[in-house]
Amino acid sequence: MASTVYVYAEFDAKGLRKTTRQVLTVAHRIAAGGKVAGVVVGPGDPALVAGAGVSEVLTVQAPAVEKYTACAYAKAIAGAVQACGVGPVLIGCTSAGKEVAPMVAQRLGLAMIPDVTDMKMDGGEVEFIRPIYAGKAIRHVRPTEGNYVVTIRPNAFPDHAGGGSAPIRPVAVAFDAADNRVTVKSLEAKVSTRPELTEAEYIVSGGVAVGKPEGFKVVEQVADALGAAVGASRAAVNAGYIDHSHQVGQTGKTVSPQLYIALGISGAIQHLAGMSTSKCIVAVNTDADAPIFKSAHYGIVGDLFEVAPALAEEIKKAKA
Ligand code: FAD
Repeated sequence: MASTVYVYAEFDAKGLRKTTRQVLTVAHRIAAGGKVAGVVVGPGDPALVAGAGVSEVLTVQAPAVEKYTACAYAKAIAGAVQACGVGPVLIGCTSAGKEVAPMVAQRLGLAMIPDVTDMKMDGGEVEFIRPIYAGKAIRHVRPTEGNYVVTIRPNAFPDHAGGGSAPIRPVAVAFDAADNRVTVKSLEAKVSTRPELTEAEYIVSGGVAVGKPEGFKVVEQVADALGAAVGASRAAVNAGYIDHSHQVGQTGKTVSPQLYIALGISGAIQHLAGMSTSKCIVAVNTDADAPIFKSAHYGIVGDLFEVAPALAEEIKKAKA
């Protein structure tokens, strides 16, 4: 059984992030009945973590962490862990998680294992499984020490059931000027009615084949019918058809939804790197030899401008 397993709790406008609930599932598997502590830094309601199935919630509040900066948050997380006895630290492989986790590992002097998509326990020892080389190979990693920092890919594990009402313990961390090398002047959150791409259960993505920005309307039709997030290939982003925040792939976002529909995407290795762990992949492409069909569970050889509206209609009918 591990010492206390720590989970960095992330929040969004809706509350505790789904990814954090998934990280809690991994934490409980490692803890094997032992303690799992949630770490809340700055704004964010610790009560949400207290009810999410943890033994204790550690909170770090200070002017230095009122707004997110990786340096200060890493110090806060590492400080909370040090104050309560170092153990494994688990963080979601989100944009902030990817940034903050290596800094936490460096501060605690621990190994860093990024982007874990699966794990097994073998006689009390944990083995992490993670795709490497843009998903071309799978690496099995066993930490050689009891403590380490791990990031967990969103949607790779189920949500933890939660429950309970754990005690909340403030932890004092002393910050100095050197801890914040940048000052956040303002934060402009983009408002979207669609699910967040990295946490979405369903994603409909468009490639450069949509032809122009308005071409994404057919992608959105299917996304609206499903309640899905909209993704894109880098070629579509580079062509200026859609904002970079939608890009899926090696230099975009990594996603792992239940269903990924690729409309007019060839399936380049760099795109697959970001979505190949999707549970079900559906590809629509005019070229029967497009590489995406090798990764797809279901394929339609056809014109996306004909297939997508028909797909949207059928989804609406099925949901009615
Ligand atoms: P294309 O490869 O041009 O494919 C278009 C597809 O649409 C074709 O298969 C064609 O048959 C099909 N098609 C055409 N018309 C229709 C129609 N009417 N209906 C249906 N199908 C149609 N790419 C990413 O996506 N994400 C990344 O993060 C990323 N990172 C990269 C990093 C590096 C370092 C490099 C070198 C490249 C990266 N790329 C990335 C680019 C990648 O190599 C591909 O160029 C890109 O994914 C291709 O996008 P696409 O599938 O939209 O375009």
